[in-house]
Amino acid sequence: MTDAAPAPAARAPARKDARTIITFENVTKRFGKMVAVDNVNLTIEEGEFFALLGPSGCGKTTLLRMLAGFETPTEGRILIDGRDVSDVPPNKRPVNMVFQSYAVFPHMTVTDNVGYGLKVDGVPGKERAQRVQEALSLVQLDGLGSRMPDQLSGGQRQRVALARALVKRPRVLLLDEPLSALDAKLRDQMRTELSTLQEKVGITFIMVTHDQDEALALATRCAVMNRGLLQQVAPPNDLYEFPNSRFVADFIGTVNLFEGALIVDEPDHAIVRSPGLETEIYLDHGVTGARGATVWAAIRPEKIELSKRPEGSSPPVMDDAPAGYNALPGTIRHEVYLGSESVYEVEIKGGRRIRVLRSNLTRWDQEDFVLGEPVWLSWHACSPAVLLS
Ligand code: ATP
Repeated sequence: MTDAAPAPAARAPARKDARTIITFENVTKRFGKMVAVDNVNLTIEEGEFFALLGPSGCGKTTLLRMLAGFETPTEGRILIDGRDVSDVPPNKRPVNMVFQSYAVFPHMTVTDNVGYGLKVDGVPGKERAQRVQEALSLVQLDGLGSRMPDQLSGGQRQRVALARALVKRPRVLLLDEPLSALDAKLRDQMRTELSTLQEKVGITFIMVTHDQDEALALATRCAVMNRGLLQQVAPPNDLYEFPNSRFVADFIGTVNLFEGALIVDEPDHAIVRSPGLETEIYLDHGVTGARGATVWAAIRPEKIELSKRPEGSSPPVMDDAPAGYNALPGTIRHEVYLGSESVYEVEIKGGRRIRVLRSNLTRWDQEDFVLGEPVWLSWHACSPAVLLS
């Protein structure tokens, strides 16, 4: 289980009339026998803030580097704006990359760092100065052009790297773990700045990260990768609420997973029986394609209610589970108080611990629990997601 993560607030989705700017067509990359990227098909729309997310070694950086032209696909092709870029060298592609280490030239001023690429391209001095000024303004570095990099904070150096990429007016900005070198507080601040910047410049951002919070907070859409494969591509909200596999459910946020069998599967409801669980899990919908299969019911910690009574404290909703389902006795074993919320670990029969997240918004008005106290866990019929793999 990963650390508790609150349900993310989705950013504005990409426009309905958006056009495709990037296409990966059956893209595979092998290094010797190792398959780093496995038959990826993916389209990215103009103006999206797209995140490639996954654990270390899943192939996300390789996918980004192929788009930038630093690696060549073993199979398949990549189109930018409908054009196959197989034979286009990195410096001729309409993309620009901001690297993890935000390397800036230490012996050059901020202005010279930002203008370097334009100078190499032969952009005349006057236009160069104007574009550098615009780029510095965009990243809020006005007035710092004459500083040397060692006179800047980490966040400011990161902004120089962003300005250096933006000044070339790429169609697509590629960001490789752009905030990972910053400390936690600065990372939070730069997250907000990065999303504001993307809205302001309106160009497509594609970011690689292993940090799910970062991806959920920034991206309009995310691709979750595992072992070179695209596991799921969806807006952050959908990834969290409707994961398509155990891997995604577990990778995005925290989840309680119960392995079981579907003992009832009707169009309007289904029931999962999980060995050793003292309740059956009742769902308010059917589960397509699951007959006879082993399934996993996934329940997020904030969807479980803690109560001294089996029926919970909130009134049942109309389509709720019939009495006797979705309610489980347990014992409070641990509480982590996090200010706005608390995470409880509740031990159920058989010794398994279930995670429950409770908001402290109206704590004065809620039932109080102490360690060792017997409690009931309950959840609504719409809460569990049923996963087939
Ligand atoms: P991380 O978050 O750790 O950077 P990642 O998801 O970005 O990981 P990649 O860097 O794309 O993963 O690597 C995917 C796999 O390909 C890894 O197993 C890696 O060791 C391997 N790999 C990447 N580049 C090369 C290379 N040049 N030669 C050989 N193997 C490589």
